[in-house]
Amino acid sequence: MPEQELFNLSAHEASDLLKQRKVSSVELTKKLLERIKKTEPKVKAYVTVTEDVALAQAAEADKRIAGGNAGPLTGVPMLIKDNISTKGVRTTCSARMLENFMPVYDATVTKKLADAGAVLLGKGNMDEFAMGSSTENSAFFPTHNPWDLSRVPGGSSGGPAAAMAASECLFALGSDTGGSIRQPASLCGIVGLKPTYGRVSRFGLVAFASSLDQIGPMTRDVTDNALVMNAIAGYDAADSTSVNLPVPDYTKALRADVKGMRIGVPKEYFVKGMDDGVSDVIERAIAKFTEQGAIVDRNVSLPSTSLALAVYYIIAPSEASANLARYDGVKYGFSAHDTATMWEAMEKTRQFGFGPEVKRRIMLGAYALSAGYYDAYYLKAQKIRTIISQEFAEAFKKYDVLLSPTSPTTAFKLGEKTADPVQMYLSDVCTLPVNIAGIPGISIPAGFYDGLPVGLQLMAKPFDEETLFRAAYTYEQANGWHKLRANLG
Ligand code: GLN
Repeated sequence: MPEQELFNLSAHEASDLLKQRKVSSVELTKKLLERIKKTEPKVKAYVTVTEDVALAQAAEADKRIAGGNAGPLTGVPMLIKDNISTKGVRTTCSARMLENFMPVYDATVTKKLADAGAVLLGKGNMDEFAMGSSTENSAFFPTHNPWDLSRVPGGSSGGPAAAMAASECLFALGSDTGGSIRQPASLCGIVGLKPTYGRVSRFGLVAFASSLDQIGPMTRDVTDNALVMNAIAGYDAADSTSVNLPVPDYTKALRADVKGMRIGVPKEYFVKGMDDGVSDVIERAIAKFTEQGAIVDRNVSLPSTSLALAVYYIIAPSEASANLARYDGVKYGFSAHDTATMWEAMEKTRQFGFGPEVKRRIMLGAYALSAGYYDAYYLKAQKIRTIISQEFAEAFKKYDVLLSPTSPTTAFKLGEKTADPVQMYLSDVCTLPVNIAGIPGISIPAGFYDGLPVGLQLMAKPFDEETLFRAAYTYEQANGWHKLRANLG
């Protein structure tokens, strides 16, 4: 068997080699930078590669390892989605508006990972302001799926997911407002967690829809996901929605044992239009869980699931229209100030600075919040949001986890859904309810259909990421899909 390439390692495997001094962080980081040079022309997952920062951080990490005070992520190269603030490193949101925006502070998660000694390779491409499901809304360039370069990696965290699948980093951070960690994780064959709302600080995450946004880990396997959560989770006084609860050691949840675990499979998640190949994979996964001793109940109904898409596309654009009002050509980023009046300057700034999908969301949101329509749309959506949360809360009285597909389809062709926004919105039918209710959800690799990865979603009650990790780890250990790598030569 050929020697394992360093860039194909999981973060915890790399960490072991670093600790045993079999490889240095500088060597490992150089390998990843070489890999990026080789595969990026095909994949295009990075907006910015931070070679100098990476090598300097790697040298620091090597000192720390030599000094015997390294943690599990010390010296491990990673990528951060480009809507998460990195001091002195361009943070663009893949938007013209922020093309040259240089943050003056780190996001809390960036700082926590730097403190843990992780090495920043660069910033990941995404749909502009995290609006989209294919990364084709990036104002710069689309990202390609390493499993089939003619297909999308999913979105909006398509850069981080594709970089993982192309072995261009050992772990990544994404953000998830309606599925943007889990759906690309599913389409690229990696593990992606959307933590409970309030579990991970949003300080320094460029706001899209503040009551739904959450940062989370995108990793090769469940162990790495738990390790990254250990590093980023926890209360932060700088984020008023962050929750002050103790953070468990998530690695303690990594036990291959689901005996007696109650798993519910809500029937509404098997939507019309779902690929047969996807449901076959999910059926086999359900059989596996049963074999491993879980008690699976197929007779679960969450009747308001079908309303989640409509609720999301009122609430998310409403919050976006308020959040994006700050891009006025004065406070941040691009400014078309060469005009006769202030109003013209604002108009021109936004005309050029925002792409079509962002403009569509701002208009939808401003309309839903307007005096005449507030009650009919926004208020109604908020009421249904409460019902959706209550249905989950009822279900979690009976089940430890709920299981569903992550996405109704595998990776689709570039250009296939760009002409029809509603088709694109449907990519997230299985993931949106999780954000609406603020609960945690994880997508794990569950197999392949026509050579393309299929993801399985597990959901749990708020702050019960541990049960998700245990179920996901048990499945992973018995199946090993996460070990397969896309062949990019
Ligand atoms: N695809 C969904 C949207 O376009 C979700 C995006 C996200 O989670 N950031 O809004």
